[in-house]
Amino acid sequence: GQCRAVCPTGAITIKQNIRPVWEAVADKDIRVIVQIAPAVRVAVGDKFGIPKGENSLGKLAAALRRMGFDEIYDTNFGADLTVMEESEELLERLESGDNLPLFTSCCPGWVKFCENKYPGLREHISTCRSPQQMFGAVLKEEARMDKEEKRKTVVVSIMPCTAKKAEIRRPEHKTDGEQDVDYVLTTTEVTRMIKEAGIDLAQMPSEALDMPFGLSSGAGAIFGVTGGVTEAVLRRLVGSSRQEDLEDISFTGVRGIEGIKEATVALGEREVKIAVVNGLKCADELMGKIQSGELYYDFVEVMACRRGCITGGGQPVPIGARTKKARLEALYKIDTVAQIKLSNENPIIQTLYRGLLKGKEHKLLHNER
Ligand code: SF4
Repeated sequence: GQCRAVCPTGAITIKQNIRPVWEAVADKDIRVIVQIAPAVRVAVGDKFGIPKGENSLGKLAAALRRMGFDEIYDTNFGADLTVMEESEELLERLESGDNLPLFTSCCPGWVKFCENKYPGLREHISTCRSPQQMFGAVLKEEARMDKEEKRKTVVVSIMPCTAKKAEIRRPEHKTDGEQDVDYVLTTTEVTRMIKEAGIDLAQMPSEALDMPFGLSSGAGAIFGVTGGVTEAVLRRLVGSSRQEDLEDISFTGVRGIEGIKEATVALGEREVKIAVVNGLKCADELMGKIQSGELYYDFVEVMACRRGCITGGGQPVPIGARTKKARLEALYKIDTVAQIKLSNENPIIQTLYRGLLKGKEHKLLHNER
């Protein structure tokens, strides 16, 4: 992906995390929880002869279980949390008029780029942690609250992305002095581990993820592709899961692979102006115009990699046109067949907000900026 060439964060910090993860899964006194990012499931089959883009989440869950991981969850659940918080933040800013446009914060390649190249605009970046960080913070908090649990909890993320390795080490991504996510494995690294374990992914049965955090909405799944974050947030704000309304949102112009897309969406009385960007070259172009006042938006989504995480720097290569298309279509298909379309309709999300997260939303889900 383009990320590999342009993303300095990823390049410097590529680090093999395979050995410490093997050590953790072998240690009976350590409870190893793993979360799997949306874009991983449509690429992890590549080196096992599985057709390009095929959703291999169930097979991956089966393999990870046999490799010794204790609990297997979905980063899409973290994405549902992000949708809840980011849509709230957008509403607040639309109301107050402060710090508009709101920039998305789930791509660390983009966050770093903005901080370095447009420091004057950093206040615009959402205070929301990324899905992997929100999820990690929740898992660790739950472990801290669980007095019965005597084992140490280690959280591992499987990500399409090398920049995610740097994200977990940012100082704001610690809660009570503890890192929220301990290790990031790229899709390529986990492929190697599966092979080291002598497992042929293609031969694995499809198994379910664990509960409760294996349950997520279709809105979470599309985070792996450009425009997905925006579409998921709009769904939450429009607040309807009727088929016609979902289609209306998907036709606003947020889908598609152009470098910069624009959409205008009516929210009550207000017309909300949106830009969806993929690739840092396009982001640079747009930021220049936002900074100079030539363009105005209320909400801007940026993903550093072309087409979003499906072409991330941790994904198996080659990624030709056919592969890109297959991965993109597969993520939308996961959403199409999902029973829950809206993040706020995920019952586990609702339970979490009434329980563990109550009064801790800011501590666990946001960054101070
Ligand atoms: Fe990582 Fe996705 Fe951002 Fe690429 S677009 S840098 S894979 S988070």
